Amino acid sequence: MKHLKQQGDCILFVGCTDKDGYGHLTWKTQKWKAHRFAYTHAYGIIPKGMYVLHKCDNPPCVNPDHLYLGDQLDNVRDMNLKGRNNFGRVAIQVNGQTFKSIGDVSKYYNICRGSVTRRCRSPNFPKWQKL
Ligand SMILES: [Zn+2]
Repeated sequence: MKHLKQQGDCILFVGCTDKDGYGHLTWKTQKWKAHRFAYTHAYGIIPKGMYVLHKCDNPPCVNPDHLYLGDQLDNVRDMNLKGRNNFGRVAIQVNGQTFKSIGDVSKYYNICRGSVTRRCRSPNFPKWQKL
């Protein structure tokens, strides 16, 4: 594939992207999201109803090593963690502080977004809530 750029471990699709940063491409007259295309080529057909999610929290990334399959629930959980679901803004309270995004939490604790995401998955981390 052309339109690819290496960024750390990630391989970014730098062609046409949508508002969420996902790459789009057309292959044999079919429209694909770039990360789903990459997953299909690396691992085979994506089962119906399954989503291709990013371990690296980097929507344009198409590195097959960073992609994994999840169901609708994983997808929603993932979007909640990243603070961009469709149900309105989400926030999280940690030690009395309110944060509106993973980015805010990572800035406050001065840790990278990836480790915030991992921390958020641990059961004793506070839950995101609607504001
Ligand atoms: Zn990646």
